[in-house]
Amino acid sequence: MSREPVLKLIPLAALSLLTLSLPARADGTDKRPFYAGYQLPAADGLYERWDPRRSWGAEHVIEALQEVANRVAFLLPVADPLFIGDISARGGGRLPGHRTHHLGIDVDIGLFMGQGQQPLGGFVDLLPYELDVRSNWILITALLDTGQVKFILLDQGHIQVLRRYALEEVGLDLETVDGLFPPPGSRLGWRRRGVIRHAPNHASHFHVRLTSTQLDDRYTEAGEDPYEDPTEGAEIELGD
Ligand SMILES: [Zn+2]
Repeated sequence: MSREPVLKLIPLAALSLLTLSLPARADGTDKRPFYAGYQLPAADGLYERWDPRRSWGAEHVIEALQEVANRVAFLLPVADPLFIGDISARGGGRLPGHRTHHLGIDVDIGLFMGQGQQPLGGFVDLLPYELDVRSNWILITALLDTGQVKFILLDQGHIQVLRRYALEEVGLDLETVDGLFPPPGSRLGWRRRGVIRHAPNHASHFHVRLTSTQLDDRYTEAGEDPYEDPTEGAEIELGD
């Protein structure tokens, strides 16, 4: 298969003008490491967007999502296209209904249920037994393989089902599985990446934060607290 990207990014036309008004360091570079200046384009058959106006992300996020959607569609050809919920508003900033989703690096993605079905039209809370565990595992693997997952938030009941699948069906060793699914309540250093953790109100979708180690470093350089703890408060999701 050709690695030619199927989709092209749509840069925000006025990006260069807007960048001028952002805080700049003495060396003239923008101190904000992320900028929600790229819109996830429509891609029939690969994914559905909940609302294109809330589908703006940082460049690496949009690229990663396209890569993930392509891979999942290839591995699960009969499954529904991914349902992409909120990312960010154009340019970022507070997104009504969310504590996060303000930096263009958070993405809500539907859970596979039944036999490869996505919640087309809106997220619905699922019970663990309603999950299509294998398809969700493939989606998680595709996300992790981008190397950009900071964390994935999910309901603990769902985590338990996925954890058991990783151990018993995939055959991963306990140490790997514990690294992937840290025990509930465990404190993690902020440099820890690629983990799947519990958060309230996440029985209907994955909340994925995508960063890279380079971007983590830039945030540190900028002297900002990079990541507020998203598990501190419940996130109000679509429709609320
Ligand atoms: Zn979210």
